[in-house]
Amino acid sequence: MKAYLEKHLTTRWAGRGDICHEEQMDSTNRRAKEMGRSGAPHGSLAVCDVQTAGRGRMQRTWETPAHQALTQTMVLRPQLRLDQAPLITLGAAVASAQAIEDVCPDLHVGIKWPNDGIINGKKVFGILSEMAVVDGKLDFVAPGVGINVNQTSFDGELKEKATSMKLERPAEMGDIDLKALMCAYLTRMEKVVDALEVSGFDGIAQEYLRRSVTLNQKVQVIGAQETFIATAKAIDEEGALIVVDENGTERRVLCGDVSVRGLMGYC
Ligand code: ATP
Repeated sequence: MKAYLEKHLTTRWAGRGDICHEEQMDSTNRRAKEMGRSGAPHGSLAVCDVQTAGRGRMQRTWETPAHQALTQTMVLRPQLRLDQAPLITLGAAVASAQAIEDVCPDLHVGIKWPNDGIINGKKVFGILSEMAVVDGKLDFVAPGVGINVNQTSFDGELKEKATSMKLERPAEMGDIDLKALMCAYLTRMEKVVDALEVSGFDGIAQEYLRRSVTLNQKVQVIGAQETFIATAKAIDEEGALIVVDENGTERRVLCGDVSVRGLMGYC
């Protein structure tokens, strides 16, 4: 992976810092946070072939079958205010969707707010961003992305909910190259983060909004304290979802706090 990236990357900073690639890690997020705390530069990367204890948001687990998925976390030190940090999660969703389409132009990837990749109503990637704050300022953000790439089946609750890039293509097409997908993601992520630094959410708004499967839909907002039905109206400059509930009251839903579901199924 490292040699491939050195040969093929044309980025200025993404994938140019420390690259930690190991066959097995418990969690690329845990490793990236360790790297961040030891001073790894902007654009560093933790990536593995087998992740044994992947996590999603709110203590959920992320299933990663060995050698069939791309599991990686960058270390970013963006010039963003602390309140803009959630934008990295939305940006990583845009970069992941773009990278999938760069490698497989026949696929079309939507985004379920804030950060799930969707193909034909099923989840193709998930993102867990974690961050470190020093003296009230953002020290680093570690967006972890798990992309389902070459899986040919899912079990249990994932059967109805998950898909992979391979499953969404004609059966005769071969396996997708994980290294090429990694390279495409780093290339896209550099552009996304640069744009966020210059313009905030406006820098990615067009790409994010055109892919949104949430906006203008009736959704169920599932929080720790309450669940309610609302219509998704907009996304604000900090990446929060603006909804109007059934009483006509406008409410602001923060990433990290809730899950959003469509009324008829997953999205
Ligand atoms: P959701 O709306 O799916 O609950 P979320 O952002 O709250 O999204 P994540 O943190 O992205 O959830 O991921 C954890 C959830 O994703 C788990 O609860 C599980 O249902 C699902 N999941 C776990 N592994 C996979 C996978 N490989 N592909 C798709 N979905 C997965």
